[in-house]
Amino acid sequence: MGRTVHIIGAGLSGLAAAVDMASNGYTPVVHEAGPQAGGRCRSYFDAVLKTRIDNGNHLLLSGNRHAMDYLEKIGSRETLKGPSRPVFPFIDLKSRERWTLQPSAGKLPLWLFDRNRRVPGTKASDYLEPVKLAFARQGKTVGAVLDKSSVLYRRLWEPLAVSALNTTTDEGSAALFWAIIRETLGAGGQACLPLVPEEGLSESFIDPALAYLAAHGGEIHLQHRLSRLQFDGGALRGLDFGGTIQLIDPNAPVVLAVTAPVAAGLVPGLKTPQDHRAILNLHYAVEVPRREPGFIGVVGGTAEWVFQKPGLLSVTVSAADRLMDSDAETLAEIIWSDLREIYPLPESMPAHRVVKEKRATFAATPQQAALRPSGKTRWQNLWLAGDWTATGYPGTIEGSIRSGRAAAALILKNA
Ligand SMILES: Cc1cc2nc3c(=O)[nH]c(=O)nc-3n(C[C@H](O)[C@H](O)[C@H](O)COP(=O)(O)OP(=O)(O)OC[C@H]3O[C@@H](n4cnc5c(N)ncnc54)[C@H](O)[C@@H]3O)c2cc1C
Repeated sequence: MGRTVHIIGAGLSGLAAAVDMASNGYTPVVHEAGPQAGGRCRSYFDAVLKTRIDNGNHLLLSGNRHAMDYLEKIGSRETLKGPSRPVFPFIDLKSRERWTLQPSAGKLPLWLFDRNRRVPGTKASDYLEPVKLAFARQGKTVGAVLDKSSVLYRRLWEPLAVSALNTTTDEGSAALFWAIIRETLGAGGQACLPLVPEEGLSESFIDPALAYLAAHGGEIHLQHRLSRLQFDGGALRGLDFGGTIQLIDPNAPVVLAVTAPVAAGLVPGLKTPQDHRAILNLHYAVEVPRREPGFIGVVGGTAEWVFQKPGLLSVTVSAADRLMDSDAETLAEIIWSDLREIYPLPESMPAHRVVKEKRATFAATPQQAALRPSGKTRWQNLWLAGDWTATGYPGTIEGSIRSGRAAAALILKNA
């Protein structure tokens, strides 16, 4: 049996840390407050829709290399499905135009010279504008750097930035958006293949990780909430689970992979992002004939991305704080009328579920980004992970997996 590593939180960041530690001969013991692993990336049975749904629709791109490595390691890369070429269908609900953005498969952006593969109303040179993000000064927002009056801004950069940052372009960090562009669109078509879980988030990201940990002698304790950390000098010496204390050897590593507000409450003096942004998801129990690739971007409506799943249409609205106080039925009706513009659907709504995640991710503003701590703490055996730590990426699957892997790498380097 290898050395024990305690991991607090079984979201993606905690599981990514646990998987990397297990593959390096450690025995991970994971403590999760909730009744289910996965945190903000999980699936569950919904009694109204009578089917399993994801807590939020998640879209990945093949350029999310840490996420891809993690999936390879836990053996579930093949459970993510998508088209063999990069294709992104869009509809503009104001003009009723439809188009499909089709970047070239290789690194050379030859697609830009074919107007049928670009956004209507744009020219090839417009697509160079994001390079300005790379040179933007610290503290700049996307909206301050890109030309907000351009067609491409409204039809591409804004929808991409809002969904990637979960923050409006007037507030969202230019540097964080550049990180996304650089590693996806900027890296060529092979980095832009859209991927969604064939079954569900838990089946792709969580259950195979739990199986991997079990196969490596790891343990997971659900409904095991950490209430306090006990320190002694420069080391963490105890984990307090509501009065039951687990003593910790000063050389035994512990990864705290909880949300930012929880971490700030547990670790003395820790500064973290405190401002969050909401995501709204709506699920309708309806079957429509499948249109490849199974999702569509929406401009000019309230819906932003629509995902087709067996027996379901699921809609995502990011940076949705403005909608959080609206009542669920009103929101369901507004989005249903957007959907009726896209698919042949009846006027009456089918069974539906509205899911408001008020604190879906940290606000990816320059100010909040400046508060992100690294994975290292002033205690020799305590490490941090979470999508809110300084990964250089926004609060995403890729960001959370990066954070967990970075914490594991720091521990291994210091061992
Ligand atoms: C609705 C929604 C849609 C999203 N869409 C996308 C998308 O399309 N693409 C994308 O890349 N990302 C998306 N994200 C973001 C992505 O889901 C998150 O960045 C990622 O899941 C965060 O993982 P994490 O491990 O950092 O945090 P969490 O998942 O929050 O994990 C923290 C874990 O710690 C546990 N915990 C908290 N306190 C304690 C305690 N005291 N003791 C023990 N355990 C504790 C929690 O229960 C939780 O399981 C979306 C998020 C939401 C909410």
